[in-house]
Amino acid sequence: MTTAPFAITSTTIVTGDHAGTVLPDHTIVVGDSGLIEAVGPTTSVVVAPEYARVDGTGKFVAPGLINAHAHLFSDGKPLSPILTNKKLEGPVSKFFHSPIGTVIAKRRTRTNVETQLHSGVTTIRSLGDVAYEVAAVRDEITAGKCPGPRVLASGPLLAVSGGHGAPVIALVSDNPWDARKNVRINLRNGVDVIKIAATGGVTDARTIGEAGRPQMTEEEMTAICDEAHRAGLVVAAHAESLAGVKAALRAGVDTIEHGSEMDNEIIDLFGDNPRALHGRSALVPTLMAALPLVKLDRADTGITPIVAANAEIVLDRIISAVHAAQKNGIRMGMGTDSSVTYVTHYNTWREIDYVIRYAGLSPASAFHAATGANAAILGIDDVTGSVSVGKSADLVLVDANPLDDLRTFTNPNMVVMAGTRIERPGVQRFDDLDAQLDSF
Ligand SMILES: [Zn+2]
Repeated sequence: MTTAPFAITSTTIVTGDHAGTVLPDHTIVVGDSGLIEAVGPTTSVVVAPEYARVDGTGKFVAPGLINAHAHLFSDGKPLSPILTNKKLEGPVSKFFHSPIGTVIAKRRTRTNVETQLHSGVTTIRSLGDVAYEVAAVRDEITAGKCPGPRVLASGPLLAVSGGHGAPVIALVSDNPWDARKNVRINLRNGVDVIKIAATGGVTDARTIGEAGRPQMTEEEMTAICDEAHRAGLVVAAHAESLAGVKAALRAGVDTIEHGSEMDNEIIDLFGDNPRALHGRSALVPTLMAALPLVKLDRADTGITPIVAANAEIVLDRIISAVHAAQKNGIRMGMGTDSSVTYVTHYNTWREIDYVIRYAGLSPASAFHAATGANAAILGIDDVTGSVSVGKSADLVLVDANPLDDLRTFTNPNMVVMAGTRIERPGVQRFDDLDAQLDSF
């Protein structure tokens, strides 16, 4: 890692804007503040002699990717059945919240955020942590104690009794005032975002159809949104059915995670949501959470028939959500749901690939969702999300234009995090898992 002023010269910038603008023969100057000092055609940008030079000839620079939906407690290999066994949920939760469990969760978080960074992700939003281990690692990164991307941490998500994520990665409540209390507990522990489980989910469903079944009432979600918004925090809702998405939007959630088919009320609420923090809401689809479970043979994945059936239902709904969002101009971001089965921390590019190949987005729109649009949705577009003067130098230097070849993110030349250069970043891969993902 090197932190010193430098310039990437004579390179092609892939801006990440909605139009897919690409700027050939440009130079980017990064100051020792870690901010971009100048960007422009190579012939018009002056690079001071004391600045290091990185020759970008024949290469491409893109804004660092933003992963708006991550978990960091696991590595993306199939989740152990122990984690989803109802009989064991008490002891498993107790273990993860014990001193040794906390140490393990924190160590995994450090490893996983670094893996994401080394694969080009310069901002991560966690949405469902064991406790406050992600917030703690965020503080270590900010203090310069360990390397990592910019981290926005949710802490444990908020769920109802027996709901999605409970009890291992959730605080539970069953009425609006206790739901507010859980928001306050998370605020006291320094979270950046509130995550709720509006409906059931795929990984821990025990019956077919449970994924997407409404769990939290609109009244409870309204209380949570009000409490979070009073503190200036956005609310992200896991919601996998029309009824669940509608109730969450009415309550004022700022992002719908996963999503469903939409009716007119839902479409209107995304664009104009009086209860949302900034008056509108956005969709973060996460195809990766379901697509591999549908495409791969159950003999290979080892998932239960219930998980497989729910994944199929949810995947259809997520794809419908992307289609409706595209048709109706609804803001869309990108998130992977990393840590769940088949979602590793180095395969973020596959989510962009999936929305292009399976949900019909153009490469430019999909890449924009993962960069500029995500920055705006997360409220950090004044800091990151584009290669612009005054923004944090969060950049990826790759061999190919990602709009033509996303696989170039498997082997970046360099990742720049807030002006710190990581040359030839490497990650630990799971070859068997990647081979399966490469099969469709
Ligand atoms: Zn998730």
